[in-house]
Amino acid sequence: MKTDFKLLIDGKLVDGVSTFDVVNPATEESFAQCPRASEAMLDEAVAAAKAAQPAWAALSADERQAYLNKLADAMEARHEEFGRLLTAEQGKPLDQAMYEIGGSIYTIRAIAGMRLPDQTMRDEGGNTIIEHRTPLGVCAAITPWNFPVILLVGKMAPCLITGNTMVAKPAPTTPLTTLLLAELAADILPAGVFNVVCDQNELGPKLTGHPDIAKVSFTGSTATGKKVMASAAEGVKRVTLELGGNDAAIVLDDVPAKVAAEKVYNGAMANAGQICVAIKRAYVPTAMYDEFCAEIAKLTKAAVVDDGSKQGATVGPVQNKMQYDKVLAMIEDAKASGTLIAEAAKPDKAGYFIAPTVIGGLSDDAPLVAEEQFGPVLPVLTYDDIEDVIQRANDSPFGLGGTVWGMDQLRAMDVARRINSGTVWVNQHLAIDPNIPFRGSKQSGLGSEHGTAGLMEYTQAHIINAVNLEAEPA
Ligand code: NAD
Repeated sequence: MKTDFKLLIDGKLVDGVSTFDVVNPATEESFAQCPRASEAMLDEAVAAAKAAQPAWAALSADERQAYLNKLADAMEARHEEFGRLLTAEQGKPLDQAMYEIGGSIYTIRAIAGMRLPDQTMRDEGGNTIIEHRTPLGVCAAITPWNFPVILLVGKMAPCLITGNTMVAKPAPTTPLTTLLLAELAADILPAGVFNVVCDQNELGPKLTGHPDIAKVSFTGSTATGKKVMASAAEGVKRVTLELGGNDAAIVLDDVPAKVAAEKVYNGAMANAGQICVAIKRAYVPTAMYDEFCAEIAKLTKAAVVDDGSKQGATVGPVQNKMQYDKVLAMIEDAKASGTLIAEAAKPDKAGYFIAPTVIGGLSDDAPLVAEEQFGPVLPVLTYDDIEDVIQRANDSPFGLGGTVWGMDQLRAMDVARRINSGTVWVNQHLAIDPNIPFRGSKQSGLGSEHGTAGLMEYTQAHIINAVNLEAEPA
């Protein structure tokens, strides 16, 4: 596996001022060094992006699309290398890593094909009003450690196709797949169009506060998102924030317990629960509770927790030590105040392995119910009245996703309409699509990614309001 990585600044692959360890969460051992950028290097990256932007914006969208498609082709040619590197730095099982890379390639191509043509708002009586969109300039992408590749390309592709340039900063514990993408970009994109700097959590404020950054697209925790928003205030910068969630799954009384348990289990435990829109609390009718628990217990006990590079592993380690300690503490607290429904086995070796765990009997204000766990542990709660469960699902500062499960699709959709979050899936989960807007309500975010709405956020809208003098009465 590749262990030599460089930053990308102004089209050149360069060393940092120092390096830091990148740890494989399945072994707790360092397997590669990441170059660390200085503040001066970040300034160079922003300056390069600023210098490159006018010529990039002057290309036609079709020309920019051709560049992005070349990048997607280059990723496809190294799909497996990306997947293995992702498993090594992030921890997820290899099949899930390959899926993230495949989704990233698809996302680049899909977004590169989108356009924002002028909109005619009025054309009558000699008055023509159009809305025309232009790029913002240099945009910053700041990404977290749970999906380092697909979350990055979901920012890079709309930024570049609309004629902006970018400086990207990955999370310190998962920088390497971003640097592999940078290596491909160095050969394909014009110098300065896409730059990557890495840090140990110190460059974020400098990047978001930089006077030549026009927009910040941030994905991460709500706590950090608030800091990003505050630092963008000074320059009235555009921000897109994709933040935390505490998504409820509402199981209706007409769905078989076995079906519901399988869907809810998968929605809670994929990527070891480290998904912003993972199912983080499940609400089940009281009359179904025992059967649902028996079914979800079977699935939980069948989990194969192991190094993601081992064939057959279904749940990898959590990504880093801080998250490991946080999730274990939440599980201990929940076990003490609730009832253990099931716990998987986990390997007795080094690695941030947490056994998938399902816990019942908790009150709505228990930390595992009220806060974002971001790990492989799920609380199951009961309800008797649909109005009550809707109110409890909405009683959260978060509003990212959510799911409703029911045989009567229209009834389930009626419940979904009343959940206050950016996305509610009915009888499916995680159907994130680059063509469909994705956004959070309340403290789960601001603005949109994906779809036309997401593309618009990388542009400034101008109203051109013209009258035809020849049409005026003499
Ligand atoms: P985090 O907020 O700790 O870090 C995210 C990124 O912000 C990292 O690159 C980090 O270096 C950088 N950063 C840290 N301090 C900064 C500052 N002051 N200014 C600017 N940048 C700074 O988040 P995390 O722990 O890496 O990720 C987990 C969180 O991300 C969870 O809450 C999860 O729900 C959320 N998330 C949300 C989405 C979504 O689309 N809504 C997707 C994935 C993850």
